[in-house]
Amino acid sequence: MSIVTAASSQSAYRGYEYYKAKNVQKVDHVGEGEIGGSVSGSGNNTYDVRINLAHPRKSQCSCPHAAGKQVVCKHMVAVYFTAFPTEAEQYIRELEEYWEEEEKREQEKEDRLIAFVRKMKKSEAQEALLQLLLDGPDWQYDRFVAEYLGEW
Ligand SMILES: [Zn+2]
Repeated sequence: MSIVTAASSQSAYRGYEYYKAKNVQKVDHVGEGEIGGSVSGSGNNTYDVRINLAHPRKSQCSCPHAAGKQVVCKHMVAVYFTAFPTEAEQYIRELEEYWEEEEKREQEKEDRLIAFVRKMKKSEAQEALLQLLLDGPDWQYDRFVAEYLGEW
């Protein structure tokens, strides 16, 4: 398991942003399978990171999110990407491919929905609309009433 897959998807992406923004001040190969570094965080804070490559969850960072916990934080990810830029490139390429796939799936779903609704019988469509309005969230009901019946 790499440090990136051990991180939450949010920490991984924030770490990538930190790496891109050059928040990592220095990186050292401090020993066998270990990388040290320091990262400027929010405000004027600087956090010290020590990455254990073989056991990502044993990595350490002095930030409040990770200190004393077995959590992989964005600072660790940023240091890791600075030490291994090709890993950063692979990470963002895979993420962008995933986003494109998601977008394509969403678009296909929308196209199918539109085609289906356009083929519904009037009575079916009326029944479905009423159900959505009566069972759905209040804002939807209120918006429909305001749009089609006016204020009352
Ligand atoms: Zn941290």
